Amino acid sequence: MTKLPDTDKVTLMTFAGNFRYATWLGCVLSGISTVIGLLPYVYMWLAVKTAITQWPDVYTTGKLVRYGWLAVGTSLLSMLIYLVALLCTHLSAFRTARNMKTVALHHLAKLPVGYIRSLGSGKIRRIIDDGTGQTEAYLAHQLPDYAGAIVTPAAVLFLLFFFDWRFGLISLLPMAVGVYFLSRMMGPGMAESMKQYQNALEDMNNEAVEYVRGIPVVKTFQQSIFSFKNFHESILRYRDWAVKYTLSLRIPMCAYTVSINGIFAFLLPAGLLLAGEAAAGASGLNVVLDLIFYILFTPVCVTMMDKIMFTSEHTLQAKEALARIMGIVNQQPFKEPAKPKHPKDASIEFKDVTFSYEDHTIPAVNHVSFRMPEGAVYALVGPSGGGKTTTASLISRFYDVDQGSILVGGVDVREIGTEELMRRVSFVFQDSHLFKASLLDNIRAARPEASSEEVERAVKAACCEDIIQKFPEGLHTVVGTKGVYLSGGECQRIALARAILKDAPIVVLDEATAFADPDNEYQIQKAFETLVKGKTVLMIAHRLSTVCKADQILVMSQGQVAEAGTHDELLEMQGLYAKMWKDYQTSVSWKVGEKS
Ligand code: ADP
Repeated sequence: MTKLPDTDKVTLMTFAGNFRYATWLGCVLSGISTVIGLLPYVYMWLAVKTAITQWPDVYTTGKLVRYGWLAVGTSLLSMLIYLVALLCTHLSAFRTARNMKTVALHHLAKLPVGYIRSLGSGKIRRIIDDGTGQTEAYLAHQLPDYAGAIVTPAAVLFLLFFFDWRFGLISLLPMAVGVYFLSRMMGPGMAESMKQYQNALEDMNNEAVEYVRGIPVVKTFQQSIFSFKNFHESILRYRDWAVKYTLSLRIPMCAYTVSINGIFAFLLPAGLLLAGEAAAGASGLNVVLDLIFYILFTPVCVTMMDKIMFTSEHTLQAKEALARIMGIVNQQPFKEPAKPKHPKDASIEFKDVTFSYEDHTIPAVNHVSFRMPEGAVYALVGPSGGGKTTTASLISRFYDVDQGSILVGGVDVREIGTEELMRRVSFVFQDSHLFKASLLDNIRAARPEASSEEVERAVKAACCEDIIQKFPEGLHTVVGTKGVYLSGGECQRIALARAILKDAPIVVLDEATAFADPDNEYQIQKAFETLVKGKTVLMIAHRLSTVCKADQILVMSQGQVAEAGTHDELLEMQGLYAKMWKDYQTSVSWKVGEKS
């Protein structure tokens, strides 16, 4: 896909590229097929007329059979043209959906991690996957149907008035009432409703993903299902929306359905009246014959109206899906520096850094300053919500600071090219994610050009050999396939192998607390020691036992560095850290007590 034009000029056809001609051709063919599709009704009526007027010499002229074949022939021709139309629109629809997905995913990869996290994986999946799916169905099926449906009224009007204008008018009246109610349903309120509908669905999707992820916790702690309040509430919100929306459509929808399906209720009495009025004989018979045509033909009008109604809804859905995808595409990545500078070493310095999350008034990091020389090991500790994770995330530019600056190797991170910054910093998350790919590819994700030997060395250094040996296919085992299960601790070790392979001079580590059994913990600790050898390390520590040897411990509380020093210095201060240490000791002795 080439570069996209300005946002307001982007349409689905922008993504179709040259395939848009296939869409247009498909629509034209669909229109032609629809008009040809009306002919069988005319031929059927002519056949009926012949049968009635030429009784009993129906077969002598051969007209009846000819009309019959013409009805079949035009039906088949209409179907054939429709098939070709669908072929064209499908070609273009697949291409469009693929291009939209590619553009959105490529762009997503450039966006700050913070933005992606704030959106949530459920929402992103829905916007991109379901959005492109919706537009694909729209372009492949609904748009050509719509083209057919808008061509039909002219032909329908012509046919309605051609045979008997009085019946035409009578058929048209209920349709006009139907159009009135249709327009009431499809007014500007509909676009807003679609937006709310998508919002409610996305919300529910996000919460569902969170819910599924949290199932182990529910099981572990025997929590009731209602502990997942957010998911429950998102379902309730969706339900409330659906009920309200359905109720608002109750009257117009019923009136619409009754009016367009009620054409017969007008036609039959009118037919009886008109036939009665007409003198017996030829003109009376003509009225009855015309009536038969309208009885045969009016169901086409109902189908046409329904198509128009549903296509309007689908058009709005496709527009909304496009708008949401463009919402991602229009999100600006962090500016790349015009003249990127290169860090001179692996030191890190926070200079009076303040940062607040979007829509939050209280800063998550508040005037934080500290300096880590190259090769130092610093630990961030403190109460939950104190700002440790946020502080660590700022180094890799998951977010940009609001005030102050962060220097890596003496250079502001905003002046370092993104690729170089990523190369220099390894981030090991607490909940290490493994892709549904082979273990080899998972580890190699850090450095795709790494040789097999290098990967094997990293595996050894991260003490992952026992994990690899568990599976007959070794490093080629695909994670997430049947029978391949890795515990949280094992995932963390594979993630450490990935970080070891990357060999970045700065390591930011969010210590895993959950899932690590003692054996795993020992192995993780060993892998960690290899990873941090000679590196500058910032570690978010959840267990104080792991931080005692750190060069500096920063105690974070309410977004600020409340205390800083070595373990012994902090204990002497008798402040927050000393209290945390005391609490920690007590909890450890409890555990020991339990075991003995
Ligand atoms: P810690 O790692 O010490 O537990 P965090 O850095 O995660 O602390 O959080 C600091 C503050 O920022 C908390 O008040 C938390 O609620 C808030 N916070 C964390 N992540 C987000 C986010 N993605 N969006 C909004 N607020 C957040």
